[in-house]
Amino acid sequence: ADKLEEKVDDEITQVNLKEVTYNIVFVTSEASPYSKTGGLGDVCGSLPIVLAARGHRVMVVSPRYLYGGPCDEKFAGTTNLDCTTKVKCFGGVQEVGFFHEYRKGVDWVFVDHPSYHRPGNPYGDIYGAFGDNQQFRFTLLCHAACEAPLVLPLGGFTYGQKCLFLANDWHGGLVPVLLTAKYRPNGIYKDARSIIVIHNLAHQGVEPASTYSNLGLPWEWYGTLEWIFPTWARTHPLDTGEAVNILKGAIVTADRILTVSQGYSWEITTPEGGYGLNELLSSRKFVMNGITNGIDVTEWDPSSDEHLSSHYTADDLSGKIECKIALQKELGLPPRLDCPLIGFIGRLDYQKGIDIILSAAPALLQDDVQFVMLGTGEKQYEEWMRATEAAFQNKFRGWVGFNVPISHQITAGCDILLMPSRYEPCGLNQLYAMRYGTVPVVHGTGGLRETVKTFNPYSEEGKSEGTGWAFSPLTRECMLDALRMAIKTYREHKTSWEGLMKRGMERDCSWDNVAAQYEQVFKWVFMDPP
Ligand code: ADP
Repeated sequence: ADKLEEKVDDEITQVNLKEVTYNIVFVTSEASPYSKTGGLGDVCGSLPIVLAARGHRVMVVSPRYLYGGPCDEKFAGTTNLDCTTKVKCFGGVQEVGFFHEYRKGVDWVFVDHPSYHRPGNPYGDIYGAFGDNQQFRFTLLCHAACEAPLVLPLGGFTYGQKCLFLANDWHGGLVPVLLTAKYRPNGIYKDARSIIVIHNLAHQGVEPASTYSNLGLPWEWYGTLEWIFPTWARTHPLDTGEAVNILKGAIVTADRILTVSQGYSWEITTPEGGYGLNELLSSRKFVMNGITNGIDVTEWDPSSDEHLSSHYTADDLSGKIECKIALQKELGLPPRLDCPLIGFIGRLDYQKGIDIILSAAPALLQDDVQFVMLGTGEKQYEEWMRATEAAFQNKFRGWVGFNVPISHQITAGCDILLMPSRYEPCGLNQLYAMRYGTVPVVHGTGGLRETVKTFNPYSEEGKSEGTGWAFSPLTRECMLDALRMAIKTYREHKTSWEGLMKRGMERDCSWDNVAAQYEQVFKWVFMDPP
């Protein structure tokens, strides 16, 4: 019996040791460094590399955006695969091409079509969002992404039908719908699985019901995307509120649903955070998980960051002081070490709580502090930043624009990073800040609440554990209280401050741990029938 037990033990170990690998296809509207407007670009630019390093075969399918400027050089390493595919949608047959680069173990595939070649960013230009985003550009992306594993002989072999699609946000949301409605009924992709990854539920790809016929889906699947606006949201008495909602279709048809933090996967099942999809999401809770994002610890590394003039580690923080002085000089602020420097990086919109910053700034700037904001977004906020800069010349800088090197310099040079987001599915800036020894002050919501542990000098445990401040509720007063607490600690309790910085820097925020959680979900998705 002992021998038998030994043998069984041995077998179990062997089974555990045997790696299960998958053919994974990311479908995304952004992938850094090729394209990025926010966290989605960061995640789809780094998670695939980690999964590839763990033995999976990984392809990322994204549009080949050409803006007609220096940014286009990002695609310099790609080659035309000379392979086109014909997509039936939009009342005709559209031909798309594919470009490819094999980099860091990943097949980066770029769908090529003239609709992706225009100045601006992936979603719009100075005049607003492109009108053909749902109707054309991302419909095309999803159709092309479904064809890619079947037709592209990458490294000599196609990915084939047994693959796992990770469709990101509504832009990739048609992929699970196409698998279910177009491919599987025809015997294709019967062994494939799909996961919809929700990075931000607020954007769902909603368009008038009449646009359904453009999507290249069989008529009988209309109900999957059917969406009725509540009466209060209709524009006139004859408006029946009928629309199509791509993200809804993805939630209905995907084999599993993932969100970018556990807190967010709960929030979106509540009426406040569900944007009308909470009941549907609640009904699919049994296939839903939340996994908190990791970060690219090579790109975001204070000991080697190419955008910084000085480098540092948790053991030697002298470089951080030099980064602060360099940033103050770059911004034209008085170079002062004793003055707490607060930073904000992000989209200037309602989600990010800019209105709260606006209302608190006059009181905050009465204090001896410096404050720098980097971002683009709503024009009223950009104008407010310019006006505040003129009014508080020695204290405030507002940098209007999207600038990656400056975002690294602010992350390194500031003492405090402010994130009063109204909601935050995960949030990456607080993770970057902690890694750079910059103490985050955040609204305790979604991924922010999960990743920032509040420092509490009044309890033994809190004193030795915190990495920042997570305040709640989201009001001007609460935010000011948390900021003042941080400023006081910075000025008067140097040892506590250093502890905060070091604990933040030593946190494990790498993708490796996170990738293992993804693999667990991959196992589950293949255990269930499609
Ligand atoms: P979201 O995806 O909601 O915009 P995240 O915190 O998840 O917010 O990710 C934002 C990412 O975009 C971070 O990498 C941040 O540094 C970057 N970013 C945001 N605004 C700017 C900007 N104006 N310039 C440079 N990088 C920016």
